[in-house]
Amino acid sequence: MANGKRDYYEVLGVSRSANEREIKDAYRQLALKYHPDKNQGNKEAEEKFKEINEAYEVLSDSKKKQLFDQYGHAGVGAGGPGAGPGFGGFDFSGFGGGGGAQGDIGDIFGDILEGVFGQQRTGRSGRRGGAARGSDLQYNASLEFRDAVFGTEISLKIPRHEACTSCGGSGAKPGTNKKTCPTCKGAGKMRMSQGFFSMVQTCPKCQGEGTVIEAPCPDCRGTGKIAKTSTITVKIPAGVDEGSSLRVRGEGEAGERGGPNGDLYVMIHVKSDPNFEREGNDLVAEKHISFVQAALGAEISVATLEGNVTMKVPAGTQGHTVFKLKQKGVPYLSGKGKGDLLVKIVVDVPKNLSEKEKQLLREYDQISNKSSGGSKGFWK
Ligand SMILES: [Zn+2]
Ligand SMILES: [Zn+2]
Repeated sequence: MANGKRDYYEVLGVSRSANEREIKDAYRQLALKYHPDKNQGNKEAEEKFKEINEAYEVLSDSKKKQLFDQYGHAGVGAGGPGAGPGFGGFDFSGFGGGGGAQGDIGDIFGDILEGVFGQQRTGRSGRRGGAARGSDLQYNASLEFRDAVFGTEISLKIPRHEACTSCGGSGAKPGTNKKTCPTCKGAGKMRMSQGFFSMVQTCPKCQGEGTVIEAPCPDCRGTGKIAKTSTITVKIPAGVDEGSSLRVRGEGEAGERGGPNGDLYVMIHVKSDPNFEREGNDLVAEKHISFVQAALGAEISVATLEGNVTMKVPAGTQGHTVFKLKQKGVPYLSGKGKGDLLVKIVVDVPKNLSEKEKQLLREYDQISNKSSGGSKGFWK
């Protein structure tokens, strides 16, 4: 690009034919990686982050994307001085001022921050009397191809806060009690007056709970929670796929002041397999056969995820023919039925023929030319 600006598709690492979702996904990943919160004081990451955002602002907006596709940076007013004479009419500098793209970016960041930094997903409406639901946690789990197909159990080490076992989460030293908050006299709220105005505020001393701890629990210092890494066993159902997300109830962060625990979200990533590819619940595999087998028909052995099966290839099978082996694919998450195995036939043309083999093929050519009415055999 004229002024050294990188192509927006290149910035996000997607192809020019990438769809909306692919662009959004790529952006999420990069934004997460270069987010200033995770790269404090890193100038290079900061620049990257700006570049990524600029690219996304354009590519996530169909109008700007179209202009960019057509005219490059000049089309979206990002080409700098002297770029693209004749395109001066497209002035998008300062885009995002209340535009749709900005809103989207905010949403995405909401998601990222919630998921990764363990902020609260649910609203704060449950914060009555100081009790609040714990934050949800997210964990990325990488599965072997077969484990995703057949289901498995995995053990996850989750660093989180759990209710303190010494005080049962109350924060009060065992054997002591909570006492009525002296500030609000147990109401949890206070009426404040300022001139003409009078307003009700949550009590700052007890945070609305109405009680305070007499003596804090020594193990959790009165917080009721303890940081701990726990091993959790999660059952992975058969048929999960890349991007599946499993919710494990109550395995997130401990709740605040007796509130319920948050949930744990396990994001599934599936490793690839050398022999099979997944298309939803179908599996796709290639099978090589010789050109003689293709011409004469054969019974061939085909590998499925549950072992080899015999498959009939009819005479005259052409390359790229796809045979469907019913119910040899991936189970549906519902537990009912399975997808199919699609076997793509690749017909191998023989190489390094011996003299005898060549001779036979020449004879074959002659005969087939005659029988099909061909005028002259090539080898004649
Ligand atoms: Zn405690
Ligand atoms: Zn109080």
